[in-house]
Amino acid sequence: MKAEIIAVGTEILLGQINNTNTTFLAQELAGLGIEVYYQSVVGDNPRRLEEVLRLADQRSDLIVLCGGLGPTDDDLTKQVTAKHVGQELVADERGYQNLLAFFEKRERPMTENNRLQALVFKDGESLQNSTGLAVGIFYQSESGKSYLLLPGPPNELEPMFFNEAIPLLQRHFQSDERLISRVLRFYGIGESELVTKLADLIKQQTNPTLASYAKPNEVTLRLTVSTLDEGQGKQKLDQMEKVILERVGDYFYGYGENNSLAQVVVDLLKRKQKTVSAAESLTAGSFQATLGSISGVSEVYSGGFVTYSETTKLQFLKLDSEMLKKYGTVSKECAEAMALQARKLAGSDFALSFTGVAGPDSLEGHKAGTVWIGLATEDGVESHLYHFARDRNYIRNSAVMTGLDLLRR
Ligand code: ATP
Ligand code: MG
Repeated sequence: MKAEIIAVGTEILLGQINNTNTTFLAQELAGLGIEVYYQSVVGDNPRRLEEVLRLADQRSDLIVLCGGLGPTDDDLTKQVTAKHVGQELVADERGYQNLLAFFEKRERPMTENNRLQALVFKDGESLQNSTGLAVGIFYQSESGKSYLLLPGPPNELEPMFFNEAIPLLQRHFQSDERLISRVLRFYGIGESELVTKLADLIKQQTNPTLASYAKPNEVTLRLTVSTLDEGQGKQKLDQMEKVILERVGDYFYGYGENNSLAQVVVDLLKRKQKTVSAAESLTAGSFQATLGSISGVSEVYSGGFVTYSETTKLQFLKLDSEMLKKYGTVSKECAEAMALQARKLAGSDFALSFTGVAGPDSLEGHKAGTVWIGLATEDGVESHLYHFARDRNYIRNSAVMTGLDLLRR
């Protein structure tokens, strides 16, 4: 079955609001085993909405519309769709009672427009709105096309989808086929390199399918399998994951849509019962802020240093001024001394240091993007030189991520 999502609203078209409803619906429909083949956005315009509906009829079996079920003049999804499928609009009794109760409670008069919100298709099914007034609609035409109309506000659409639409869709489109997804996260490898290493898998993919997605400094891979049997589906995913990790496992750091390198590092430190601190120059505290964004980090992090200038490096970290004069702050020697001092002063198991040139100008004869990262452990200290590219914040972010990655390894 082919499904299509149509978001109605001029404000989406103009980029004034994010089309989060479509994202939500696409994910939820996939979870029900309903494949979405098309998505579109159309303004509050009857002629263009009619055009989009006509196109959807040609290519989709289930057409999900969201937005424009409200009482105002620009809310016309219901009227246009009713006309399109040749349905008369009639009042939904429960929806109407809900409207009356709403206005009675607020002691406000109900306008003629409000009545519109309780109108449904004569031969359709209505979906009650537990957080608002507009009733949703499900309708199957004689030609076998299905239409699902949902309200625009996410706080109305989401509960209506979970409480009313899911049981209804399951009833009508019962399929035992399920989609199961797994997200693998990588750091330290670019998307193009990853994709090149997996080119044959990507080319052959049918079930499971493989999709890559790049964020600054990160690549995620989504494996999706369509299956009748959950156990079998998971096995297929395991097999594919094994092949992938044999090739690029070195860069793999964790699973899941909402996971992050910082989360993985904090979990790891917790498991090992180790603590970390840091001394930051060019990153100006953002490594520690990144750690701080993970809940429960206090078990493994108690504080550290932000030493942006030479003065604070001398004052807070008690670095040796002769050493700084001799080697400069963008140096192996400075990075190692910073890490060692941070570890000692904070009394932590590990300490990272960051010193370098965020740019855009050069510093001490080093180009923007030159970064030393030090790591002090109970065994001593190591340091690594990097040349990050792009703009100032990208360079600083790369340093933070690389620091996390060093801790993970
Ligand atoms: P209302 O009764 O509030 O008028 P409605 O069903 O008529 O609801 P719209 O008027 O299209 O829906 O949109 C109302 C609000 O819902 C928008 O201002 C916006 O905040 C939110 N909204 C609408 N469509 C979307 C969407 N696709 N994604 C996220 N939010 C949306
Ligand atoms: Mg509206």
